[in-house]
Amino acid sequence: MKTKKIEKPVEEGYRELLQKVSLYNPNPNQKLINYAWEFAKIAHYGQKRLSGEPTISHPLAVASILADLKLDSVSIAAALLHDTLEDAAVKKEELKKKFGEEVADLVDGVTKIGELKLRGSIEAAFVENLRKMFLTMAKDLRVVFLKLADRYHNMQTLEFLPEEKQKRIARETLEVFAPLAERLGIGEMKGKLEDLSFPYVYPAEYKKVLKDSQPFYKKSEEHIEKMSKNILRELAQEGIKAEIHGRKKHLFSLWKKLERPEVDWNFAEVHDIVALRVLVETIPQCYTALGAVHSLYKPVPHIGVSDFIAQPKPNGYRSIHTKVFGPRGRIVEVQVRTQQMHEESENGLAAHWYYTLMKTGKAGEEIIERGFFAPSDKIKWVKQLVEWQGVGSDSQEFLNAVKFDALKHRIFVFSPKGDVFDLPFGATPVDFAYAVHTQLGNSVAGAKVDAKIVTLDYKLRSGQVVEIIKSKYPKKPNQDWLEFVITREARQEINKYLRKSSQAVK
Ligand code: MN
Repeated sequence: MKTKKIEKPVEEGYRELLQKVSLYNPNPNQKLINYAWEFAKIAHYGQKRLSGEPTISHPLAVASILADLKLDSVSIAAALLHDTLEDAAVKKEELKKKFGEEVADLVDGVTKIGELKLRGSIEAAFVENLRKMFLTMAKDLRVVFLKLADRYHNMQTLEFLPEEKQKRIARETLEVFAPLAERLGIGEMKGKLEDLSFPYVYPAEYKKVLKDSQPFYKKSEEHIEKMSKNILRELAQEGIKAEIHGRKKHLFSLWKKLERPEVDWNFAEVHDIVALRVLVETIPQCYTALGAVHSLYKPVPHIGVSDFIAQPKPNGYRSIHTKVFGPRGRIVEVQVRTQQMHEESENGLAAHWYYTLMKTGKAGEEIIERGFFAPSDKIKWVKQLVEWQGVGSDSQEFLNAVKFDALKHRIFVFSPKGDVFDLPFGATPVDFAYAVHTQLGNSVAGAKVDAKIVTLDYKLRSGQVVEIIKSKYPKKPNQDWLEFVITREARQEINKYLRKSSQAVK
């Protein structure tokens, strides 16, 4: 039978998953994971993905991604079950009875997040949905890792979806999930999520960067090879065992850099298109290695050294970066870090101590778990997530804390009924009215902000309640409004109305 052919690799994949888990977890809850696997297989029996693969291959892939992030048995089991509520009509109660509350809550959490539409557009529900997502995630951070892994795998198979969906999902990935991965210190996943989204969201730009960067990648790689040999030799003389890799800059982040005015598509200005990564054992060795690198290649004045070991980035990233004059005077970035720092930045080692922190309530303290040291800086953001559980409907406070790029330059105001509207900075009551409904825009007679009458060109601020006073008679949009409205919608509708009425007069 046909199904046999398909089932075999799935079972193989499952054995590989267990193997992967056993490499970092000496004592996994094998019974729980096995039970979840058997249950999920039955729940998704006969279902297929658009790619033609059996549906079960997806939760399996998601579990495998979580194993790369070194998550615990409960997370692995939840990953295997994560689509059973949504796609297989299983009830949360059933999961709870069979797999316990933790697993059931994780699956329920990721299902709820999946139902939220986060399009990053001027959707009225956007902010509220984003807030709901964070609140769900704040209850158990493992939900975030599960959601990210789910999205990561779905992005890899995005080509099988209809075009409309591809664009929406890719944009959401770029605007919400890639920044989220970065916040969690999973740099590698952030870069990959961006690169997977790039061709769908900005197809023309993607093609251009891909084509134009080709020769530069090639040349840089040649330089790097020469340099790594020299550096390895120098380090050996210092008695340091090191590993050196070249790391290619991700395409999306390269594009963003090329677009900067000071770079302006001059590839020679992008010094880290291929960077050299020197991995050593200890922190003192990092500094010795830095000295060795500088003895061979002079650091570039002014833009030279950034020490993220002494001062880690807010997401916990640690490394020393130095820009040096490489072969033929070309500027090359060299990154020095310990093996442990490397693994942290690639896989967000974060993962497996986060939930321990959450459980022990030790957030904010430095802890040592399974031999890994977690800088307290890294968890500030997580602590914040937890605190947001207590945040009421004050979306402004919430957004200040989130500060995603997608949400900068926007304000969030409320209708008297409490609906949230997301508008560009500088929006007026008229913009608001048109965002609610064209009809409302066309009948604006006045406006109240926080119960006080304001002029129609009043600049709204986040958190305000805006009430539009409608005229009793059908009122007309005023030509003067064009002087102060700033949303495209408002401008279009006003113009449309004015054109129509001028034709009517003629
Ligand atoms: Mn899924």
